[in-house]
Amino acid sequence: MPSHVPTPNRSPRVPVNIKHLIDEVQCYQTVRELRWPDGIACPSCESQHVIKRGFDDTESARQRYECHDCDRRFDDLTDTIFAGHHQSLKVWILCLYFMGLNLSNEQIAHELALHVSDVHQMTTQLRDGIVKKSQQ
Ligand SMILES: [Zn+2]
Repeated sequence: MPSHVPTPNRSPRVPVNIKHLIDEVQCYQTVRELRWPDGIACPSCESQHVIKRGFDDTESARQRYECHDCDRRFDDLTDTIFAGHHQSLKVWILCLYFMGLNLSNEQIAHELALHVSDVHQMTTQLRDGIVKKSQQ
């Protein structure tokens, strides 16, 4: 056996950003399935008489609704931990996915290029459920 076999170069690494591989539309679909497993319901009165009202102006996959019973307007993210958060929904869904793989907060932070403290806060919230508890 030759004793001077050069160490093979590491295989070429193309920088793949997982955030570019997942689809915003599927992320919103995932949120709907998580929060409304039995069909879309009004966050105020829980009526299922809900009318679709087009999509968000800036996030084209974010469905808007209006409750036929109490006239409340809401969208996919209303009253969830994702609403008004500075991380995009993609990042949250990926975080959820990595949690399912049992990655540590440190590993998730590395994959998503986030600070561990941010990931810690996100995983803590996700474990508590994506729909905010009633604030009354
Ligand atoms: Zn309602």
